[in-house]
Amino acid sequence: MRAICQAIAAAATIDLTTHINPDADGIASMLALAAALRTGDRRVRCWSPSPVPARYAFLPGASAIAVAADADRIHRLPPCDLLIACDCADAGRLGALAARRRGRLVNLDHHSSNDRFGDLNLVDPRSACTAMIVERLLRALGRPLTPVTATLLYAGLVYDTGRFQHANTDAAAFRCAARLAAAGVEVAWVNRQLSGSLDEHDLALQAAGLARLVRDRTEPRLAGIALSAADIAAAGGPPEDWGDLVELPRSLRGVALAYLLREGRGPDGRPVVRCSLRSDPPVAVGPVAAQFGGGGHVQAAGCTIMADLATARRRLLPLLRAALR
Ligand code: 5GP
Ligand code: MN
Repeated sequence: MRAICQAIAAAATIDLTTHINPDADGIASMLALAAALRTGDRRVRCWSPSPVPARYAFLPGASAIAVAADADRIHRLPPCDLLIACDCADAGRLGALAARRRGRLVNLDHHSSNDRFGDLNLVDPRSACTAMIVERLLRALGRPLTPVTATLLYAGLVYDTGRFQHANTDAAAFRCAARLAAAGVEVAWVNRQLSGSLDEHDLALQAAGLARLVRDRTEPRLAGIALSAADIAAAGGPPEDWGDLVELPRSLRGVALAYLLREGRGPDGRPVVRCSLRSDPPVAVGPVAAQFGGGGHVQAAGCTIMADLATARRRLLPLLRAALR
């Protein structure tokens, strides 16, 4: 923490980023930290390695995030003193921003799979979200919360705890929520923005998911949704982000492990399957995602399987059944 505060104090140009397919925790953590670091004539810039979903446009400052997909173009920029990664578990999650020339790389994160890829690392898997780590960092920097930074951090906290329902919701998360609320968050407004942001296309995908929802025949505690490329095309194509569709199979009584698989095409045109995995403690899905080169948290993880949907299912389902034993 001290080393990171010193590095920030000494930096005249700071770039921040979050992970590919960014979520509310990553985006809000980055924006809150950026707002607090914009002092004097320091130049602070926010990046995302892939487009920011429209549903997060309500986050103050989101419209100023630059989207960078091209590593060559990123590499040609003049170097910044500090690049701060928010909510990224490994350097691969930085996408094109991994090519950003910089003095030092700071890694702020809470994923248990985080491999400490930064020159300076503030990684706390016990923290419910990266927003809570940023809240601590702001305190260490002596930067008081404002209504804007508190609103951002609160959005990250609500999102990553699943509205204070996931296994990561603990006393520290509630204490942090209280500090943020006291700093001027319009709690109901934030919740409304986060939960009331679906469009008709998202709902069509939910209908397709509902039609494909199955409970496993041999393991009743396992349920999931597998959407083929044709299913997704029939529902109007992939969404900007898949949100919490995986919560649908998870909401079935008796289910302790839920999955969402969606088939797409990789850059080489070959089929790939993105997987979202969720479980109830003590069941762990993080290690299963790691077996496919993915990661995340113990009870919420994701990975990409380089195969078509049928093959991906055949490889993944036995491992999910084993995780329940
Ligand atoms: P989701 O299922 O919502 O995409 O992701 C669940 C959690 O796992 C999130 O914290 C996300 O950052 C992480 N995650 C998802 N996919 C990957 C991946 O391919 N690699 C790593 N390292 N983490 C992932
Ligand atoms: Mn997070």
